[in-house]
Amino acid sequence: MRKTVFLDRDGVINVDHGYVHQIDQFEFLPGVLSACRRLHEAGYALVVVTNQSGIARGYYDEAQFAHLTQWMKEQFNAAGAPLTAVYYCPHHPDKGNDPYVRDCDCRKPEPGMLVAAAQAYELDLARSYMIGDKPSDMTAGRQADVSGCVLVRSGKQVESTEGADVVVEGLQQAADWVLKQ
Ligand SMILES: [Mg+2]
Ligand SMILES: [Zn+2]
Repeated sequence: MRKTVFLDRDGVINVDHGYVHQIDQFEFLPGVLSACRRLHEAGYALVVVTNQSGIARGYYDEAQFAHLTQWMKEQFNAAGAPLTAVYYCPHHPDKGNDPYVRDCDCRKPEPGMLVAAAQAYELDLARSYMIGDKPSDMTAGRQADVSGCVLVRSGKQVESTEGADVVVEGLQQAADWVLKQ
């Protein structure tokens, strides 16, 4: 059973330009890859869990998302911080097109992506952490019973710190905090 750091994508790994779906829109936040390498070297699996309602809304399709994700994984590999998995929720409860408009258990704040990853890859949620930029990320982590939730200020304007164990500037500082636990 592996300890894991679950990472939101937009606003945590890359600048949240809104519905990022192309390589030329994907701008890594500073220090992200080296922070992830430190977590990997400390024995943490790295799993991305990202809401992608842009798919439901028809802004891009799953093939485009997969193409960008493949490129993103290559960047992590090259940096010595391989991702164990990337989970995404393509749904939205009321906006968009069939078959994606529905209530689901994967869209954060639901914990479905974390729980599915834990089952598929034998991850130890009780020794794991969630890092995100929104309260819904914190709630997903709480609902999955991870050990701690870190809110970063590198994405969406922080309006509530509810559910966060700590609030830090970005992923570098989040990794520092995780590695001290
Ligand atoms: Mg985000
Ligand atoms: Zn979903």
